[in-house]
Amino acid sequence: MLARCVERLRAARKIAVLTGAGISTESGIPDFRSPNGLWQRREVRESITRSCFFHQPERFYRYFQELFLPWTDIEPNGAHRALAQLEQKYGKWVAVATQNIDGLHQAAGSSQVAELHGHLRTAACPDCGAVYDMAEVRQALDQKRTPACECGGVIKPDVVLFGDSLDPDTWVKAQVWMQQADLIFCIGTSLTVTPANTLIDRRRRDSALIIINLEPTAWDDDADFVFHEKAGELLPRLVGQLDGQFF
Ligand SMILES: [Zn+2]
Repeated sequence: MLARCVERLRAARKIAVLTGAGISTESGIPDFRSPNGLWQRREVRESITRSCFFHQPERFYRYFQELFLPWTDIEPNGAHRALAQLEQKYGKWVAVATQNIDGLHQAAGSSQVAELHGHLRTAACPDCGAVYDMAEVRQALDQKRTPACECGGVIKPDVVLFGDSLDPDTWVKAQVWMQQADLIFCIGTSLTVTPANTLIDRRRRDSALIIINLEPTAWDDDADFVFHEKAGELLPRLVGQLDGQFF
């Protein structure tokens, strides 16, 4: 199956990628939605929300700090790097729509990334729109202060919280990529989180669908290739084979 998959990848002109938490667990980022993840704790689920941010920002930031801020020193793994190589080494057109907020695709070198759920680079004031580096949020939290804007508002991280809407431009971009692609990778996502999973519905009928996820997904039967393996090991192997017999 790997050889056929390599040939399909070699022939691909436009590659769209949808990634979820599973691609980053190998970088040491916990999948907080997993059965043992923090998301199972109700007070966590109910604290990382738009409503909690606006009504109880201290509580929101207590859990935000615990959940997300330890991630900022984490490095991309072989899966992120293999996707970046498809562009940089093999000259493919690659566009990545990710449900992750860790920024690891950009860190690996991918140039077209739609972060459906936002990112941890910046935060903004909902009152005046001022933008802050996440380092300033971190500094305030380290000093036991709620991150505040010069105007007096509480600064909000640029991540999509439960209760927030997706950024419309990012969402449209991801949809267009899915429609344009002749090959689609779904990596590290169980394809159960809406609306990201509906992106797959946008694909062209003649596109190839490759799923890489440790567990079975609802889309396995529709896929051309399914690998229940670690993406950080499989993708470098797959992409590495593009080197051979290219005459
Ligand atoms: Zn402000």
